[in-house]
Amino acid sequence: MEPQQRSPLLEVRGNIELKKPLIKAPSRLPLPGTRFKRGPDQMEDALEPEKKRTRGLDTVTKIATSQSRAPAITARTQTQNQITAPKVPKKTGPRCSTAIAMVLKNQKSGPAVPAQKPGAAAPPMVGGRKPTKRPAWDLKGQLCDLNAELKCCRERTQTLAQENQQLQDQLREAQQQAKARGAECRTLEGELARVQAQAEQGQQELGSLRARVLELEEQQCTQEGLLRELQKEQLGLQEERRGLAARLEEQERRLQASEAALSGSQAEVASLRQEATGQAALLVEQGERLHGLEMERRRLHNQLQELKGNIRVFCRVRPVLPGEPTPPPSFLLFPSGPGGPADPPTRLSVSRCDERRGTLSGAPAPATRHDFSFDRVFPPGSRQDEVFEEIAMLVQSALDGYPVCIFAYGQTGSGKTFTMEGGPGRDPQVEGLIPRALRHLFSVAQELGGQGWTYSFVASYVEIYNETVRDLLATGPRKGQGGECEIRRAGPGSEELTVTNARYVPVSCEKEVEALLHLAHQNRAVARTSQNERSSRSHSVFQLQISGEHTGRGLQCGASLNLVDLAGSERLDPSLALGPGERDRLRETQAINSSLSTLGLVIMALSNKESHIPYRNSKLTYLLQNSLGGSAKMLMFVNISPLEENVSESLNSLRFASKVNQCVIGTAQANRK
Ligand code: ADP
Ligand code: MG
Repeated sequence: MEPQQRSPLLEVRGNIELKKPLIKAPSRLPLPGTRFKRGPDQMEDALEPEKKRTRGLDTVTKIATSQSRAPAITARTQTQNQITAPKVPKKTGPRCSTAIAMVLKNQKSGPAVPAQKPGAAAPPMVGGRKPTKRPAWDLKGQLCDLNAELKCCRERTQTLAQENQQLQDQLREAQQQAKARGAECRTLEGELARVQAQAEQGQQELGSLRARVLELEEQQCTQEGLLRELQKEQLGLQEERRGLAARLEEQERRLQASEAALSGSQAEVASLRQEATGQAALLVEQGERLHGLEMERRRLHNQLQELKGNIRVFCRVRPVLPGEPTPPPSFLLFPSGPGGPADPPTRLSVSRCDERRGTLSGAPAPATRHDFSFDRVFPPGSRQDEVFEEIAMLVQSALDGYPVCIFAYGQTGSGKTFTMEGGPGRDPQVEGLIPRALRHLFSVAQELGGQGWTYSFVASYVEIYNETVRDLLATGPRKGQGGECEIRRAGPGSEELTVTNARYVPVSCEKEVEALLHLAHQNRAVARTSQNERSSRSHSVFQLQISGEHTGRGLQCGASLNLVDLAGSERLDPSLALGPGERDRLRETQAINSSLSTLGLVIMALSNKESHIPYRNSKLTYLLQNSLGGSAKMLMFVNISPLEENVSESLNSLRFASKVNQCVIGTAQANRK
């Protein structure tokens, strides 16, 4: 039906309409600022809805539209640039449309009611005024109108083409921009991806950082706890520091005081050093002087000893022992010396009643008084220390290098052993000469050590029984038996004598000497069981070899101290019948007497300066030969029993001792090496 209703003019309009989209297109384009995301296709799409809307209208609407086309274009032109509208004559619009309507009416005889409708056939409105309608007959006018309208359309087409060109340019520009934007977009997308990757990485890092933060928070908690503790500790330490600072201050104060004292002390030390140097020089000088004095002392000491006699005899009377008969008061007398009772006694008087010499009246003969004079006489009450005091100087001569011999002579039971070794028990008061002499020597040697002298002591202890020598210091299997010893020279051509198989024990203190005396006592006790009272029938010889050295001055001295407990000097009564036991006893006694008389003879020979000294006549004199002659000093104790019954033996002893006392051995020479 629609083609039937369509007028020929509409066909023309349809041709014109083909170009409408080009006209309308500019108004549909987005603004340059908003178009950059759309491509050319999208631009087409943007134009499309107008077409669609146009196509979708029914015939009536289309006609109406076509009738109002011109005014619509005019109106639009007016609003856009006001160029098109003035070019179209106001009268042309209605006339043209009217002409078209007339043409349509003439061409088609059919009912063209819609075309005749005033609204549809009316010329377009120009400038809001209704155009004047040309009469149907005014074809020329209508043609003119149409031409004008055509011209107008052409102009407009041209304008639109230009506009189109501009729009095309804009479109290209927009496309280029879009392309640039696309590239930019891709760059941005790449960047976005990278940023996203970074963000992801950041997220991961964030996660790990969160974990780390948690961990750090925990650590922080711990650290805070620790910090609190440290703060507490710090407070304590600060307190302590304050205390220490106070102490430091105190110490510094003290230090300053000490430094002041030190500087004072240093000055003092310097002066003391100076003084010490002076003292040292003085000391050296004093040492020299001391040495000179010591040598002088030795010389004078020796002179004194010589003045006293190189052979001295002391008489000692033992006290009456409990159970023994008390002798008559006049039996033993100790007359005072020239100095009166204050003088030490040197004389002894023994009164003897000789029963054989009776008077004619039958009355007992008056007692014979025997006077003896010795270097010193010790009455029964004399103590051990008093006795030692007298011999101490002599003992010291041994340290000075002079051989010394001290004998105890007397009958058995007169107190020889008591004098030499001491009394029973360990009572220091009854200590004998041997321990006292050694103690004295050790002490003096120590004193001389201060002057540069060094001393060493070697002890031996032997007994000579029946002209055989036995070791009293023997130990082990030889204990008691002693083993036989021989007296030999220490070496070929040597003056020194030694006892073979005997022990020579170095001693340096009293205790060692005590031990040796104890051992000797034990050895004698064992021997006593097998042989009756052998100790009293033998000589005991304690020898101490002394060696002194002064390394600073290259001096040496050596001598021996001999302490001899002689065998009992009693003689056998020749009137007694001799049984087998007595014969042995006689032999013993003869041996003892022989050795004792040899000792007397040796002393005499030395005193008389005889060429031959009979040392070899007894083991005792042979053993002691180096300590008897020449420079030797000798002391003999003659021990006397206080009992009247022993008077005969006492007188014998006193006579023997007197003989010895008369002897003088030449000037002693110190045994210096
Ligand atoms: P010896 O050795 O001469 O045979 P002792 O020394 O054994 O004689 O003495 C015999 C006894 O006399 C011993 O019991 C001893 O204690 C004692 N005696 C000797 N001298 C004294 C004295 N001075 N004081 C006290 N008792 C002594
Ligand atoms: Mg004795």
